[in-house]
Amino acid sequence: MTGFLEQTPGQLQTWFADRGLPEYRLRQVRQWLLQRRAESFEQMTDLPKPLRSQLAEEFSLLTSRIAAHRKSEDGTEKLLLELADGQRIECVLLRDDKQHRTVCISTQVGCAMGCVFCASGLDGLVRNLTRGEILEQVLRLQQLLDPEQRLSHVVVMGMGEPLANLDALLPALDAITDADGLGISARRITISTVGLPAAIRRLAELNCHYHLAISLHAPDDRLRSQLVPSGSKVGIATILAAADDYFTATGRRVTFEYVLLAGLNDRPEHARRLAELLRGRPALVNVIPFNPVPDLPYRTPAAAVTGQFVEILEQAGVNVKIRYRKGERIDAACGQLRRSEVTQGSP
Ligand code: SF4
Repeated sequence: MTGFLEQTPGQLQTWFADRGLPEYRLRQVRQWLLQRRAESFEQMTDLPKPLRSQLAEEFSLLTSRIAAHRKSEDGTEKLLLELADGQRIECVLLRDDKQHRTVCISTQVGCAMGCVFCASGLDGLVRNLTRGEILEQVLRLQQLLDPEQRLSHVVVMGMGEPLANLDALLPALDAITDADGLGISARRITISTVGLPAAIRRLAELNCHYHLAISLHAPDDRLRSQLVPSGSKVGIATILAAADDYFTATGRRVTFEYVLLAGLNDRPEHARRLAELLRGRPALVNVIPFNPVPDLPYRTPAAAVTGQFVEILEQAGVNVKIRYRKGERIDAACGQLRRSEVTQGSP
C-alpha cells in the first residue's frame, strides 16, 4: 500500500480527478490529516463512506509505529518511531513557558557526518527519510498536544544532516508551511546543518526564509576537523562565505551552534578566535553545554567555564545565547533514545 504522505500534490490531484471527485474533497482529506489530527480515513466523517473506503484500500494514512514514548517533567516528550522497513528514528516535542510548542524532527536514519559527540552518528548513515516520513513525525507529535493547542515552531535538528536530504525535506516543509497544511510560518522553521555550502546556496536561491543554524563547534579548521570530521574538506571560511550568501539572499540572520565540550573547545582563546571569525557578521551564537552521552568520553564544562566563554563573546560584540538541552532524563539529545533502545532492547 502507498503512503498518503508520500504523494506529491500533483499525484493526489490526479487521483481525485481520475475518479471524478471535486477538488474540495482533497482539501478536506488534507485538513483532516494535517489540521484535525485524524489517524485514519474512517475518522473523516464528512467524506462519503465509499470514498473513505476507497482511500483506505489504496493508501496508508500513517506508516510508522510508536516504538517508545518518553515524557520528561519539563514537558518534553520524545517518540521513537518504527518505520515501515523496521528502521527507527527519533522526534521530540518541546514545551516552554512562552507557550511555544516546538517539534524537533529527523531527516535521516543515522548520520554520515560523524560529529564525535553525537549518538546519531555513531553507527553511520543507514538511509535518507522520505518526504512522508519527515512530515509524519510532525503529525505524530502534534497528536500529543491538547486539542486546543497548536504547534508553533519546527526545528530540523534531529538525526541526520538535513541539507544532505533536501529533496525530501523541502516538500515536507511545503506541507508544514502551507496555509492549507499546518500553516507554520517559514520564519518559525529552523534548519540545522554542519555546513554544506552547495546546499546552503540552493536553499538561499529558493528564498523561502527558513532560519539557518550552522553547527560550527570550533573556531579553527584543525580543531573542527577533529570534532566534525565530515567538515575537514570544506573549511570554516567556505562555510562562512555560504552563510553570508544566505543572509544576503534572505535577510535572515544565521545562527552558529557551538557545543561546548569540557577541555576541548571551551577555553578563552577559543572564544576569542570565534569572536574574531564572526566579527562584522550579523550572527547569533548558540552556546550549548554538552549533554553527556553514554559510550562517549566527553564532559559538560563547569558553569563558570561556560560563563566565561559567553562573556568573552559578548564583550567582543557577538550576540550569544546559552542553550540547555531539555528533557535530559528522557535521552533527549540527538540519537540517544534510539541508541538506548538498541542497546537495552525494545519494549
Ligand atoms: S550532530 Fe547532527 S550532523 Fe553531527 S552526527 Fe549528529 S546528527 Fe549528524
